[in-house]
Amino acid sequence: MSKYSIIVPAYNEEKTLRLFYNAVTPLFATLQEDYEIIFVNDGSTDGTEVVLEELAEQDNKVKVCSFSRNFGQQAALLCGMELSCGDAVIAMDADLQDPPEVALQMIEKWKEGYDIVHGKRRKRRGDGLFKKATASLFYGFTRKITGLDLPQNVGDFKLYSRRVVDTLLSMNEHDRLLRAQTGWVGFKQTFVEFDRPERVAGSTHYTVKKMVRLAQAGIFPNTEYTLTLPIKLGLLFGFCSAACLITFIVLACSGIDFGGLTAWLFPFIGGLVSILLVCQGLANMHTAMIYREVQNRPKYIIDKRINFDK
Ligand code: UDP
Ligand code: MG
Repeated sequence: MSKYSIIVPAYNEEKTLRLFYNAVTPLFATLQEDYEIIFVNDGSTDGTEVVLEELAEQDNKVKVCSFSRNFGQQAALLCGMELSCGDAVIAMDADLQDPPEVALQMIEKWKEGYDIVHGKRRKRRGDGLFKKATASLFYGFTRKITGLDLPQNVGDFKLYSRRVVDTLLSMNEHDRLLRAQTGWVGFKQTFVEFDRPERVAGSTHYTVKKMVRLAQAGIFPNTEYTLTLPIKLGLLFGFCSAACLITFIVLACSGIDFGGLTAWLFPFIGGLVSILLVCQGLANMHTAMIYREVQNRPKYIIDKRINFDK
């Protein structure tokens, strides 16, 4: 008999958690196999903790882990994986945007021998135009510069086999985007398609700032492109300035009025300074990331656990 671990990051989800529990448990009960639901309360400030304590009280398959503050969805997923003991681990959002019946299809695929089963969004009713456009840009750009197999329209709704979970846990990065890491680990992967509904209650917790942070975690640990970019830009700018200089000399020798060198100097220096600052900024971002790795602080801090064996 297999055991499944469902891991659910929850940040201010007091309105959705009972609905999630009521939708998921009857479905998993039909499997007649063992399962656990690990809710990771990511430093919620609403009644999430109270609701989770009530659910854990009524059902010992519900396990709850609360963080000392908000560490982010990726940290919550990582924690859920660390605490899980299932043969397969399924990551789902608390807001029922990841339909529970699709999780059962993922289990079928796992039984066929796949190690990672991605939930692929066919339609995204819950997401606005801005989110769809920025996501599409991010995936295209990141795929190009990292060379990672980062499928379009795939989020964190996935099933991972135990050996994939163990591999992901052995990767020690502090800044991580699981979606990028699954592209890196390999193994046999497949998709289950679904139409993504709207949130069952409440609204998204992803601010633009959080999305930018997530994008950085997907890009910087996975590429050296941003470090070699200054060389390419430097060569390009050097080539352009040499071409300008030659043009000026030719124009000056031919007596043609081109507005004088000083008229060209301001945009030229402005362009140069902006390129230098962008390159410096990219290098700083890498440095900040290395600094976080060297500091080696915990990736999250657990405040409380309920229903875990030890
Ligand atoms: N979440 C979290 N920590 C955060 C933000 C979100 O644990 O800092 C959880 C949230 O409770 C939900 C999942 O991550 O279960 C996805 O978040 P959300 O629905 O806000 O994102 P969206 O679906 O809009 O991308
Ligand atoms: Mg959502």
